[in-house]
Order: sequence, then C-alpha cells, then structure tokens
Amino acid sequence: MLTKLSQIGEFGLIDLLKEYRGSRAGVIKGIGDDTAVVPLDAKRYLLLTTDMLMEGVHFKRTAPARVIGRKALACSISDIAAMGGLPRYAVVSLGVPGNLPWAFVRDVYKGMDALARQFGVAIVGGDTIKSEKIVINVALTGEVSKKDVVYRRGAREGDQIFVTGPLGKSLSTGRHLKFTPRVTEARYLIRHAKPTSMIDISDGLAADLGHILEESKVGAVLEENEIPRRAGAGLRQALYDGEDFELLFTVPRRKAAFLGRQKQFRFYPIGEIVPRAKGLLLKNKTGALAKIEPRGYTHF
Ligand SMILES: [Mg+2]
Repeated sequence: MLTKLSQIGEFGLIDLLKEYRGSRAGVIKGIGDDTAVVPLDAKRYLLLTTDMLMEGVHFKRTAPARVIGRKALACSISDIAAMGGLPRYAVVSLGVPGNLPWAFVRDVYKGMDALARQFGVAIVGGDTIKSEKIVINVALTGEVSKKDVVYRRGAREGDQIFVTGPLGKSLSTGRHLKFTPRVTEARYLIRHAKPTSMIDISDGLAADLGHILEESKVGAVLEENEIPRRAGAGLRQALYDGEDFELLFTVPRRKAAFLGRQKQFRFYPIGEIVPRAKGLLLKNKTGALAKIEPRGYTHF
C-alpha cells in the first residue's frame, strides 16, 4: 500500500501499468519495444512514441535552449529509427514557469524545427501549461512498411551483435545533446542486412542489450576488446553509461562480414547471441568469460 516508486523501479512500474491498456483490437505491439506498433494500411504500420525531458533531470536551464529542443525531438526520432521506421508527425507539450523569457521557448522550438526539417517531421500541435520546472514532452509518429519493422524480440542463437558507433561518456562529453538519430543507418541495415532485433542505446549498452535478450529469450557474449569506446571512456562507461543513442542490433552470421566491410557507414561487431541459460557474458582479452549484469541508468 505504501510502496514507493523507487522500490518498484522504472521497469517494474512499466510492468505494473501494462494492465491498464484500454481495449481495441489490432494492436501489433504495445508496451515493451522502442515504439508502439499499430495498423496503418495494407502495407504499413504506424509507430507511436513519446519522450519527456525535465529540467534538472535531463538538462540544466543554463544549457542552450536550441540544444534542449533539438534533443527532445531527437530522442523520439531515435526510437522510430530503432523500429526501422521513418518519423512523420510530432505534437509538443511544454511546462514552463511564468517568468521564463519568451526567447527561451522560441529557441527550444528553433532547435526542434531545425531537426524536424532535416528528418521530414511536421510539428502539428501540442499543449502548454505553467509549471515550476521546464518540462518538454514530444510525441512522435512514424511509418514503417510491414516487411521492414524490426522488434527487440527476434535475436537468435548465432546472430552477431553490432553497434553503430563508439559508446560511453555521452553525458560528460555533451554528445547526448548533439547526437544525430540513426535513421539513415537503420534504413540501410534493413535494405542490406535485415536485422533480427534492434534497439537504440538510451539506458546503456548492458541494459539495452538486456532488453533484447529478455524479449528474444536468448543470452549474449560481448567481446571486451571489440566494444568501441568514445575517447576517454573506459570499459565500464561503454557498458553502463546511458544516452549514447547509437543503434544496437543483431544480424544472422552470414550478414556479419558484409556489414563489417561497409565503407558508407561504420558498423562495429561486438559479440554473439548464445542460448538464454548463459545470460550476459563478457569475454576479456585472454578469452575468459565473466557474467555481467544487464543494468544501466535507472530513472527512479
Ligand atoms: Mg529506445
């Protein structure tokens, strides 16, 4: 009765809320992936996602407003990319203190607008309320053809695990504010290698790979030497820091060599899918295996 959210945790909370899902037939994928997937037409699905950023948690008021606005939309675009889709329409809600300068809000929108133009997104509405802290919520739709959609649940034993870029220290280097969502890379992957599972790295490599393993009911071995790290990042930071917004995906082994040779984009092979009973393992330089926890950034 007096259980606090901090005791349940973010993912425990999501689990509890799954019960309250209304009623409508035809939902393809509800809670439990990067976006929801619902019917659109004969050939396509509609993707739905929403992301909330709050002052003091995700950004400081002293950060440039344009950069904050850009990030608010970029996080949602990244989730659409992780499903293999293209972003389409956004509605944006703002909570702002009455004494906030107009220029701040304008610049938040300038930042969103620039990224929206780059990715062909229309901002079509929203809501504003007065609040003590600045809160920005972006809800975004996307489209994906039925044959292209990629879930977290399709990884199979023997599949090779890849990431689209170096990991770690995203927060301390400011990358988390400036990243480009990997929409183009995802489209390329679907055309040329059809990933069996995909997710964007928001909570950290270990945690987000954990989501793929759980949904796919498999285990994984990560090669310590192969995990690409951002300059100055150690192994722990590459494994557990959040907000990299790179794509993490699996492909059948026969596609792996082809991806490793790509010049247009760089795809980094970092490990292999193994039977579920093995869990999540890290192989070091000497070949020794150690179990690691699929944890990362938690929100409560
Ligand atoms: Mg995601």
